[in-house]
Amino acid sequence: MTPTTSPQDKPRTSASGHDLTPPSPDELQRLAALLSPDERRVLLHQGTEPAFCGGLLNNKKPGVYHCRLCDLPLFRSSAKFESGTGWPSFFEPFDAEHVVVRWDMSHGMSREEIVCGRCGGHLGHRFDDGPKPTGHRYCLNSASLKFVADGEAA
Ligand SMILES: [Zn+2]
Repeated sequence: MTPTTSPQDKPRTSASGHDLTPPSPDELQRLAALLSPDERRVLLHQGTEPAFCGGLLNNKKPGVYHCRLCDLPLFRSSAKFESGTGWPSFFEPFDAEHVVVRWDMSHGMSREEIVCGRCGGHLGHRFDDGPKPTGHRYCLNSASLKFVADGEAA
């Protein structure tokens, strides 16, 4: 995969108090080995799971959606909405620094790709047809996410 952040000399902490230091190549390899082939395809090779197939699409439990690869909290269940697209959709991230937006010019389209603010794992895309107040629709792959219900240990 292509690294999205250059290695930092000092630890970086987000406004919500999470360490954003990218995993070392060794650590990344260790984490990637724990993924299923589908999760690896999405997170590390910018894959997209088929619509209406992801395990978290209809999840309505209160909790937090974490990065499947490095466990950074990415979205709160309170920001999840029913977009009708077939992919889990959110209107705002857990923390602005936890979800990084970059241009994706692949497949003859120019879209905003979203990646994990710590490990750079591919999450999905961002569109501008979301609900108020942000108007954003963060379109996620369930395979990129790990759901942690309120009251459960991460
Ligand atoms: Zn991550």
